[in-house]
Amino acid sequence: MSKPLIEQLAEAFCCLPGVGPKTAQRMVLYLLERDREGGQHLSERLAEAMEKVGHCERCRNFSEQAVCDICSSPRRDEKLLCVVETPGDVLAIEQTANYGGLYFVLMGNLSPLDGIGPSELGIDKLLSRCEGVDEVILALASTVEGEATMHYITEALKERGVTVSRIAQGVPLGGELEYIDGGTLSHALSGRKVL
Ligand code: ZN
Repeated sequence: MSKPLIEQLAEAFCCLPGVGPKTAQRMVLYLLERDREGGQHLSERLAEAMEKVGHCERCRNFSEQAVCDICSSPRRDEKLLCVVETPGDVLAIEQTANYGGLYFVLMGNLSPLDGIGPSELGIDKLLSRCEGVDEVILALASTVEGEATMHYITEALKERGVTVSRIAQGVPLGGELEYIDGGTLSHALSGRKVL
């Protein structure tokens, strides 16, 4: 005998960050009691996004097309490439900083203990993307993993004669974006240091 659907749905909601069993139960009951239409809409958008959102083949950011809108825009400066950890970092920079270059999204940081090495982060792709680029800006968090990742990328790019810089410190990146105020990221980008 399978579990009641209400229980199964509440358990499914628990995959969301910050949602425990109590909150999940409240969400399920809310949808059933008060907003079945909203629940239907949510389930359709969820199914569609999970099926259709993939990764841009140039920058690895989330995209519904093979190449994302930023990479295919003729208005972006192709000589400038900003390396970030997550798609959320791209959104934060797009929303707060006056940045006109392109991106590369690592989707993580080097973390050998978790089995995340250069190939999981697409570093090969990053290196080949850097041909013809004047400057690569590293906008990674200054955590142990972030520093290790920046060191690895810097060494690899310097061998290829590409200018590498890193943003000024004090900016929470890597998904910790809710703490960023409007000007901080802008200043961090404009105050970047060449390595
Ligand atoms: Zn892209």
